[in-house]
Amino acid sequence: MTSTDAIPSAGFGPVTVYFGDKTGKYPDGNQVVVRGRDTMAVFDTPQVANRLGDILAEADLAILGHVHEDHMAGLHLMPGKPVRVHEADLEAARSWQGLSRHYGYPQAVLDELRKKIVRDFHYRPRPDATAYADGAVWELGGVRVRAVHLPGHTAGHCVLLVEPQGIAFIGDFDLSSFGPYYGDATSSLADFRCSLRTLSELPAKVWITSHHKGVVEDRAQFDALLRAFAARIDEREARLLQMLAPGPQGLDQLVAQRLLYPPEASDLWVGCAEARSIEQHLRELQAAGRVVLDEQGRYRLAAP
Ligand SMILES: [Zn+2]
Repeated sequence: MTSTDAIPSAGFGPVTVYFGDKTGKYPDGNQVVVRGRDTMAVFDTPQVANRLGDILAEADLAILGHVHEDHMAGLHLMPGKPVRVHEADLEAARSWQGLSRHYGYPQAVLDELRKKIVRDFHYRPRPDATAYADGAVWELGGVRVRAVHLPGHTAGHCVLLVEPQGIAFIGDFDLSSFGPYYGDATSSLADFRCSLRTLSELPAKVWITSHHKGVVEDRAQFDALLRAFAARIDEREARLLQMLAPGPQGLDQLVAQRLLYPPEASDLWVGCAEARSIEQHLRELQAAGRVVLDEQGRYRLAAP
């Protein structure tokens, strides 16, 4: 690890990672820069981008792996430059209305969230953002970027693979102990499960996360971290079944007990994310015949 302008960084051939605070722990993130012979691209623009103004001014384009407030925090430093987004996340980048539908929270939460992200994340919509599709390729000169659509966290979440070096920017597959986040309106637990399997087979030698882990260079270590990350889904399912053991409960009661977040978590979206995540687990468990919805709208364990 070297230091450029007091920001820790790591280099892998044409790729440089500038680490945000606490290796990009939310609300910060890690800034990836790819310097080709002809073109310089940045992947996402987390808060730390605001301390890398010269680099963002020099960049030719931003390729977003997905859209969330913490991945757009430096786009205001690149006015007029191309911003590329997977087609399923495009409207979330283009307008506040699109981002509101992407989150899917109640209006009162959205109103507060908008103030917060303008203040903390320099949030500005990018109506000029344009779409890319799964498999999109950018030739930067001696190095190319390929988008691999791996939805679940958001509908348009992609891994950006730098070839031929095999450096994968895996975004919010952040390998954190929190585990996968699928708590927004366009998130999908089912897609997340599929994407985790595909991610494990991706031809890569270096993995860069947006948050927490930073960089992993060892295949065995990556496999172990990914297994632990994915296992959080099954742990949540097991805990939800435990929560239902005492008797039938409504969604509100389950949300109040918290499946994902610790009791002290107070972020604006916590209740919404709990509800959306718990609902998806309940749907899976209903489909598997393990949980039943009764006439009062309460969930209970199916009779053995
Ligand atoms: Zn995200």
